[in-house]
Amino acid sequence: MNLTRDARVAIVGAGPGGLACARVLQLHGRSVTVFERETSPDARSQGGSLDLHPDTGQAALRAAGVLDRFHELARPEGQEWRALDHATAAALEQQWPPGDEGAGVEDRPEIDRGHLRGLLLDSLAPGTVRWGRAVGSVLPLGDGTGRLVFADGATEDFDLVVGADGAWSRVRPAVSDALPRYTGVTFVEAGFDDSDVRHPGLARLVGPGTMVAKNGSTGLFAQRNSNGHIRVYLAFRAPQDWHTVAGLDLGDKAATRAYLSEMLDGWDEGLRYAMLGADSDFAHRPLFALPVPHVWDHVPGVTLLGDAAHLMPPLGVGVNHALLDGTDLAQALIAQEDTDDAVRAYEGLMLPRSAELAKRCAEGLHHLIPPVAADGQ
Ligand SMILES: Cc1cc2nc3c(=O)[nH]c(=O)nc-3n(C[C@H](O)[C@H](O)[C@H](O)COP(=O)(O)OP(=O)(O)OC[C@H]3O[C@@H](n4cnc5c(N)ncnc54)[C@H](O)[C@@H]3O)c2cc1C
Repeated sequence: MNLTRDARVAIVGAGPGGLACARVLQLHGRSVTVFERETSPDARSQGGSLDLHPDTGQAALRAAGVLDRFHELARPEGQEWRALDHATAAALEQQWPPGDEGAGVEDRPEIDRGHLRGLLLDSLAPGTVRWGRAVGSVLPLGDGTGRLVFADGATEDFDLVVGADGAWSRVRPAVSDALPRYTGVTFVEAGFDDSDVRHPGLARLVGPGTMVAKNGSTGLFAQRNSNGHIRVYLAFRAPQDWHTVAGLDLGDKAATRAYLSEMLDGWDEGLRYAMLGADSDFAHRPLFALPVPHVWDHVPGVTLLGDAAHLMPPLGVGVNHALLDGTDLAQALIAQEDTDDAVRAYEGLMLPRSAELAKRCAEGLHHLIPPVAADGQ
């Protein structure tokens, strides 16, 4: 028997899921080390805005004892969601504020991904995260423990290795052969800084939350982050190498702008500006997802959480479930005496839950960006 109270736990990946797991373990006096390939908390921009749901993301932050801090940093007004007509920018639909008839509407405040990561990092004991420690692979040792093999060849053994290392997990092959597959939908991302001052027309169009406009299989999604930053995604169906086929160098901003301008032919000028007037370069973000359902036979000494376990199209649930997985796993390790029993209990809860969710997200993506009809419409 490998007792949970003495177990040395390694978490690979200092994303929201891994950090939430580490925090709950530490709250209960357990030993945990997080290995992160990035060299520091500020090594790269942490990306956009996330809405945390009451029964998943917020429940996890409550279990981690950081819900109050979340509410200090969150933007309730960021929940506003508006749909505009693609050709005229006329308002079609608006949700939030809910008004009288909306009493009971779920409270899902937005937070910048960087702020969420920062608040979880601040909650951990100094030295918990080892930065610049990229894991290359994981070896289950057959006696219920697992070996981390770092990218530099060093190794370290643990009673439990938790793969919280996201979409392209290096831990996943220890339990499953599955690989993320391209969904057929791609995003081109652009950004605007200080939008209220420098891009006031766009700031008004987007409002305090999310703005959506769609034309067939093309969607424009703009989202306000903190400090007046607006992040915009143009979503469309295309082969993964569409830009190569089109002879387009995405690093060439003028050429990319000209290409996207044609794609947005017939769209309202203000909406076209939301992509074509960007301060930033254009970033290509093809969407990948794990096969549905993604399940595996239990392997003692290794498990997965978050995107490593169930990468899905980004329909607003990924981070919520990464956080919930993290706190559920930690709570199982605290509640059970035996490490393997705890991991089995966690997987018994997480795998069916995420399979159902992944199915809904795949259907949601199909609905949001429908496949292009044979006649191209
Ligand atoms: C464009 C976009 C928009 C999204 N919007 C939303 C949204 O609105 N709401 C929502 O709920 N979800 C959203 N998601 C999904 C959400 O971002 C993810 O589900 C969530 O970040 C997963 O958290 P995680 O902790 O599992 O993994 P990650 O956040 O991916 O963290 C993994 C960590 O592991 C580290 N790592 C990776 N490999 C290694 C290695 N070999 N060794 C050591 N460390 C490693 C990485 O550097 C990273 O820090 C969106 C995703 C995308 C792409």
